[in-house]
Amino acid sequence: MNLLDMLDGQRPAEELICSRRGCRALATSRLLWNNPKIHPPERRKVWLACGEHIQWLEDYLRSRGLWRETLPVPVPERQAPPGAHPESTETH
Ligand SMILES: [Zn+2]
Repeated sequence: MNLLDMLDGQRPAEELICSRRGCRALATSRLLWNNPKIHPPERRKVWLACGEHIQWLEDYLRSRGLWRETLPVPVPERQAPPGAHPESTETH
């Protein structure tokens, strides 16, 4: 049994950091944008934004006509403990 083998499977969760230059805050929103001059219409670029910079980044994209959508950052699914199978407690 090799300890390294065990650790190898444990990748740190991918950190979602705000795209604003110099900001290291955890992102809470995703800004989807597209530059029609250089991107195909279906292409979506993604910026991540913390609560402090979401407005700044959205204004930046909107003012250039690049903004398409603002979405929340998906919350990573928490691993269910082994053997836990949530069952409906509803009775009929
Ligand atoms: Zn930020």
